Amino acid sequence: MAKSKLPRRPRRSLSVVVTAGPTRESLDPVRYLSNESSGRMGFAIAAAARKAGHKVTLVAGPVSLPTPARVRRVDVVTALEMLRATREAFREADALFMAAAVSDWRPARRLTGKWREKDLGSKTATVSLVRNPDILAACGHDPSRNGKLIVGFALETASGISRALRKMKTKGLDFIVLNSEQALNSPRASVLILGGDGSVRRLTNRTKSDIADALIDLLGPR
Ligand code: C5P
Repeated sequence: MAKSKLPRRPRRSLSVVVTAGPTRESLDPVRYLSNESSGRMGFAIAAAARKAGHKVTLVAGPVSLPTPARVRRVDVVTALEMLRATREAFREADALFMAAAVSDWRPARRLTGKWREKDLGSKTATVSLVRNPDILAACGHDPSRNGKLIVGFALETASGISRALRKMKTKGLDFIVLNSEQALNSPRASVLILGGDGSVRRLTNRTKSDIADALIDLLGPR
């Protein structure tokens, strides 16, 4: 068959940063604070972005998932490491999808040996925590951001829409994906994609791969 003479539309290949998984905040050499995030959503977004022809850096917390083909993966453990890796990758990128479940707090001190409070016979114990930086807000309010697209996530158990809208505003986001705890560790999820322009898109009981494709569409037509 003769080849079509129609000119092919050039692909608009962008550079995209995706974060995924939990962070882990050490208390001592064997104990840490973390959460239930599996990393599936972020890995699905990275795969969808690559499938759409974009260049992808995936900043991953500690998860046991294979790296999607032709994706550059940067492994991190703590929120501070994720902040450093994400800011560095975002500097050179066009968009950020912040699907990671960053620990809001970290132990004020990482003990060099095991925490021995129990051996003192105590019935209660207190761990002093300090706030981790908000990675998304740091990127959202970065003066050199230059119109780059930023999409955040909000996992809410109550008053979801109003909390998510507030987060979108305070963190300087273009879109926020509202989901619930049912999304954790599951291959499927129901989400609302809320836009700073007032747009609302509901995706019900979809695979994370379907949701990821819809999020990559936010980058606009190719
Ligand atoms: O405030 P909250 O944790 O609900 O916000 C969720 C969004 O903010 C997610 O996209 C998450 O990745 C991001 N986040 C962050 N740095 C933090 C806490 C949350 O980037 N320290």
